[in-house]
Amino acid sequence: MIKLLLATNNQGKLAELLALLNGLDLELVTPTDLGLNLQIEETGESYRENAILKAAGFAKETNLWSLADDSGLEVEALDGAPGLHSARYAPQPGATDSDRRLVLLQKLEEKPRPWKALFRCVVALCGPDGSSITKEGICPGEIIPDERGEGGFGYDPVFLLEVLRLTMAELSLVDKNNLSHRSRAIWKMFPVLEELSSQGRIKE
Ligand code: IMP
Repeated sequence: MIKLLLATNNQGKLAELLALLNGLDLELVTPTDLGLNLQIEETGESYRENAILKAAGFAKETNLWSLADDSGLEVEALDGAPGLHSARYAPQPGATDSDRRLVLLQKLEEKPRPWKALFRCVVALCGPDGSSITKEGICPGEIIPDERGEGGFGYDPVFLLEVLRLTMAELSLVDKNNLSHRSRAIWKMFPVLEELSSQGRIKE
């Protein structure tokens, strides 16, 4: 069975990816399984570039097919910020998800509600042979001023889903995986991953 390395050190993303990819005929491995501590600098100018940088970096280091995601939150009233910089939105070193949510809410304080937003995710699959392919998914919603829910990670407690009127953090992992930006991107990648598992290669 072909090994697929989930090229992320973000434990929240990892849990979601493991559940999403579980049914495939691929052996899923994590950086921890390999004793690998690899940090890739996100120097790209788009989610796509950053996702490829990460997946290709892990594939090169391990010689394994690697799947990475680059994702972010885009808020209409902030002209799409924090966007690509979602993981680094609070300036202080060692800032936490909670610090970043605070920065976001401070920036939105003066703006009229509703604070329309969306999550965007690009997943990249890269092979040790240098091949690569990307797929994108989005999930629309709105930012709310008070945190709700204990699940998920990042901006989930302040991200309200349009139809359900629940925050992402109020959903179970299974329910989040039924509608998130990450799952939408992964679902688009499914035929490619099935091709990889049966043929050992992909058509770019
Ligand atoms: P990156 O893909 O490593 O650049 O990090 C993406 C950042 O966007 C995360 O650290 C979170 O702050 C945010 N983010 C991405 N996906 C999600 C999600 O599913 N829930 C909440 N926050 C997310």
